Amino acid sequence: MTVETQYVGPDAVEALVRYVEAQGLSRFTLVADERTRSALGDAVHSALTAEGADVQMTLLTGDEVIADGERVLEIMAHGDQNDRAFLAVGAGTITDLTRFVSHRLARPFISLPTAPSADAFTSANAPMVVHRFKRTLDAQEPIAVFADMDVLCEAPSEMIAAGVGDILGKHTALADWRLGALLWDEKIDQSVVDAMYRVLHNVSGQLEAIGRHKAPAIAGLMRGLLDSGTAMARWENSRPASGSEHHLSHYWEMILLQQGRAAALHGAKVGVGTVLMARSYRRLLDLSADDVRARLERTRPAQADEERIRIRAGYGPLAEQVIAEHAEALEMLPVLTKRMRTRLADRWEQVQAVAADVPPPEEIVKQLRTVGAPTDPADLGFTALETDDALRYAHYMRSRLTVRWVERTLGLL
Ligand SMILES: [Zn+2]
Repeated sequence: MTVETQYVGPDAVEALVRYVEAQGLSRFTLVADERTRSALGDAVHSALTAEGADVQMTLLTGDEVIADGERVLEIMAHGDQNDRAFLAVGAGTITDLTRFVSHRLARPFISLPTAPSADAFTSANAPMVVHRFKRTLDAQEPIAVFADMDVLCEAPSEMIAAGVGDILGKHTALADWRLGALLWDEKIDQSVVDAMYRVLHNVSGQLEAIGRHKAPAIAGLMRGLLDSGTAMARWENSRPASGSEHHLSHYWEMILLQQGRAAALHGAKVGVGTVLMARSYRRLLDLSADDVRARLERTRPAQADEERIRIRAGYGPLAEQVIAEHAEALEMLPVLTKRMRTRLADRWEQVQAVAADVPPPEEIVKQLRTVGAPTDPADLGFTALETDDALRYAHYMRSRLTVRWVERTLGLL
């Protein structure tokens, strides 16, 4: 399924009403929480009801909405067997829950973002918490997105800042992808890479106006987030938009979930992760080709057994799950490591060219501060130990080549 309509502008509710009429849709389940209901849900409900539509409101109550089994059940429990289209009125979590439930019920869903906070609105996968572990489950894209400018501009500043963090993360995500192509022969598409860099540069050029909630800049941020989600859906995985900075975010999220601590916004964690990974790229820039050769002579190739030990040290009760998800990569490890070591020696100039495209960490910090986003793990409540652990183990969150694997191979991790 592809997104048929992506509307970002004024009077989005009117645009939605016209769209559903044209599509012949008249029965809906609207999913919102208390905040998004007053921001937009009630307006959607009354506009559709005034046109004679049957709209069932599913209100998710309580302070924290997590995309977990309990919330899935809550949405299902409110449902009936009528053939309803779903309306997700909210930010990332409500959209992911609705995306997942609607997909499993074989119903279409429409996304109505209430904040430009992440790039997940147009993506096809749903990150869901299963047994306190976040898993990416197959789901579906919305058939349409209607983003209202008044609502987006009134979104809480920290959610807008999180959207910027999710976009700035593309610096390291794209660099990681390019390293994957260079060092592991991973599939890459230059036109997708170019399109993502355009999104990045458009948003980076508007940070001050975004920080002041100016409508054209907020619209640009929202469009960038939608384009990023669409790029992931087209590529059929998150490679164009997610790399080592996201792995840090996923690792921290897992810690918060395991310990029952309050969640932090996805994009806020990604922004902080981007600062840390920009430091990793800086370290690569500081190494000469001779340094690299000397380091390769001093270090042994990674061994699957050794990696399993590290995963067990870093993941405790979740280790076997992480190892199972890496089964293929661990099997391939001798081949991949050998290839990477040869390539690092032969292509160091190209690796450095990729590293040089990542802005210095100070620059990322400055950009995040412009929109009031956190820049340091401590800002998110993480201790120095939790940051060290994240740096040591987060690259096992996904089976993918990132700058951390390059550092690992060079004995820098
Ligand atoms: Zn993200």
